[in-house]
Amino acid sequence: MSTAPAHIQDLGAYVSASPSSFHAVAEAGRRLAAAGFRRLEEQDAWEGGAGRFFVLRDGALIAWTVPTSAGPATAFHILGAHTDSPSFKLKPRPTTGKLGWLQAGVEVYGGPLLNSWLDRELALAGRLTLLDGTEHLVATGPLLRFPQLAVHLDRAVNDGLALDKQRHMNPVWGLGDPAAADLLGLLATHADVDPRGIGGFDVVVADTQKPRVFGSHGEFFASGRLDNLSSVHAGLAAIIDAADGGADGPIAVLAAFDHEEVGSGSRSGASGPFLEDMLLRISLGLGAGTEERLRALASSFCVSADAGHAVHPNYAERHDPANLPVLNGGPLLKINANQRYTTDAPGAAYWAALCSAAGVPYQEFVSNNVMPCGSTIGPLTATRLGIRTVDVGTPLLSMHSARELCGVEDPGHLAAVTTAFFRGDR
Ligand SMILES: [Zn+2]
Repeated sequence: MSTAPAHIQDLGAYVSASPSSFHAVAEAGRRLAAAGFRRLEEQDAWEGGAGRFFVLRDGALIAWTVPTSAGPATAFHILGAHTDSPSFKLKPRPTTGKLGWLQAGVEVYGGPLLNSWLDRELALAGRLTLLDGTEHLVATGPLLRFPQLAVHLDRAVNDGLALDKQRHMNPVWGLGDPAAADLLGLLATHADVDPRGIGGFDVVVADTQKPRVFGSHGEFFASGRLDNLSSVHAGLAAIIDAADGGADGPIAVLAAFDHEEVGSGSRSGASGPFLEDMLLRISLGLGAGTEERLRALASSFCVSADAGHAVHPNYAERHDPANLPVLNGGPLLKINANQRYTTDAPGAAYWAALCSAAGVPYQEFVSNNVMPCGSTIGPLTATRLGIRTVDVGTPLLSMHSARELCGVEDPGHLAAVTTAFFRGDR
């Protein structure tokens, strides 16, 4: 990756350090703290006022910069993204197996491309909560694999692979007698805790292959979890880079939610109150009353950043014929008549001006009429807070694969326009 843009190398490092949503926020918190952001606890009383802060709530994070010039009606410029990726989550009583194999009981998390998870060396990663309430991050090295059936035993496989989510998606992780094995005990060893103390766990499967730049001119970047760590990382780089926006600058906010891939309905998801709670506390810290708070929201703006689809050369008919986004053509501006994306005319105009101010290209994405688009957190935050929102994101191929593909330029473009957004440039 030596000739690749520095941003993409750093994205690779961030993704590698973030095999689960809990790791993604821990690593983000580590980077923010190193850049001078102060971690606050929701249970504590806050002083309020100017400064750079962040809060973690389970697998979600909100970070913000309050400029010294901020008053009770200062606008928020919010970048929203999500920390989770489609995967498999460890079930209760996860140690299974038969015929001399040790296997793991897993539940499908979100909508992974099941075939892409076959024949890879996979890790387990997440959090263990002990009976005393303490929480411990855990990540194994390469441990599991979903072995595909040999073609000799499945002659029709190339006409279409059918995978049963219960029967066929039981990864192997060793040889031996399941009755004498203990997968949770193995995790406890990795986390350096007493296995008898484990009271609960949220642990997912993650690909272990290192991200890689490739292509004739190094134009491609392959990695797991680009949906949506490419957006979280862009927001993280931008909020660290964007110093205090100065006089009349907005309050920059990075909101990275969990559980987008399963509908966002949780205390750390975008349908929960996390962002609303944090904005309220920031406003209260600036001495805002109800009217000032509503004035602040009325002049605020949200950029909902989530990975989107570049045109696939072998399936161009799946796209709108006039809107064919390419890799390295800049972030997508996502538009949908049915409000699956929030972008409207004022939002589109704002985004165009922002990209122009940042010197960054962008390209529109709209669905083919017979291909309903995916969902994002944009409509959820817009509906909840009434803040004008646009949906944007890095164009990918192979979305929801264990190893997705983007261009080496686009994540850096997204970070650059986000930096301009956080500074209030346009
Ligand atoms: Zn996504």
